[in-house]
Amino acid sequence: MKAVLFEKFQEAPKLVTVADPSPEPHGVVLRVRATGVCRSDWHGWMGHDSDIELPHVPGHELAGVVEAVGRDVVNWKVGDKVTVPFICGCGSCSECHAGQQQVCLHQEQPGFTHWGSFAEYVGIHQADLNLVALPESMDFATAASLGCRFATSFRAVIDQGKVSAGQWVAVHGCGGVGLSAVMIAAAAGANVIGVDLDPAKLALAKDLGAVAVINGGEADVPEAIREITRGGAHVSLDALGHPVTMTNSILCLRPRGKHVQVGLMLGEHAAPAVPMPKIVGQEIELLGSHGMQAHRYGAMLDMVASGKLDPARLVGEKISLADAPEALMNMNEFRSVGATVITRF
Ligand SMILES: [Zn+2]
Ligand SMILES: [Zn+2]
Repeated sequence: MKAVLFEKFQEAPKLVTVADPSPEPHGVVLRVRATGVCRSDWHGWMGHDSDIELPHVPGHELAGVVEAVGRDVVNWKVGDKVTVPFICGCGSCSECHAGQQQVCLHQEQPGFTHWGSFAEYVGIHQADLNLVALPESMDFATAASLGCRFATSFRAVIDQGKVSAGQWVAVHGCGGVGLSAVMIAAAAGANVIGVDLDPAKLALAKDLGAVAVINGGEADVPEAIREITRGGAHVSLDALGHPVTMTNSILCLRPRGKHVQVGLMLGEHAAPAVPMPKIVGQEIELLGSHGMQAHRYGAMLDMVASGKLDPARLVGEKISLADAPEALMNMNEFRSVGATVITRF
């Protein structure tokens, strides 16, 4: 099969031909029909993820069709149209038994712990636990963006932030995760404020339901949010993962507000300074959010089917597998509006 592979961190990945995968007894092999290019792939390529063994094929936001099924798999057959959470549970640990596969103690992540979907085929483990059936009506490019950014945002807003109608929600960083969060929080009935440095992304945030937007390059962000909300946001998300957006997100909250850290903070940003006096004095909650387990996809897909959520609007450029190395290396420059998705293999 064709695959995009890198042999050293920070060295240009190449389009090469490698052996086709075969399914694990509990797994499947999918023919990849679409796969998103995400900043997490860039982190992996930079060497920020200790799970990655070289040589490596990245790619974790995927949708495809079951091509081969392992002998122990009960629920899936060749030809099924599926996606998969980027964090796959093991099925045996206490967190998996509690239904919290997104924090599985032995989790696997295609494109990190094993080869991913920047390829014609990808192996997925523990298929009965981790695969998600896709509605016939959903196109593969849209479905690919569910696996990471959209699902991650759904959990961050609905399950972790517990956003409810009438609340003020601030979203710091309007990339793929942030724009998804704007749409989801607006659908939940919240008044959403989008923050970014890029006017094009702020315009899209408004289109997707933000009631106000703030250009972080031109304003004191926490001050501006406290003014708009008359006292601060109830829930605020750092959808980017940077010390500045994290700090702004905490400082823009009203007393007893919730900060949800969704954007990854790795490498030089792994241990940021946190404004603890506000957290203690105002009883601020700090919450992490990490993907979303397969059994919660149904709630999200039902909202897509009923038209309350429209992830197709977040798909940006569609590229070929041959374009993937350059797209991956440029991922830290935040050039793209909406998700870049590989749809030609
Ligand atoms: Zn991703
Ligand atoms: Zn587990």
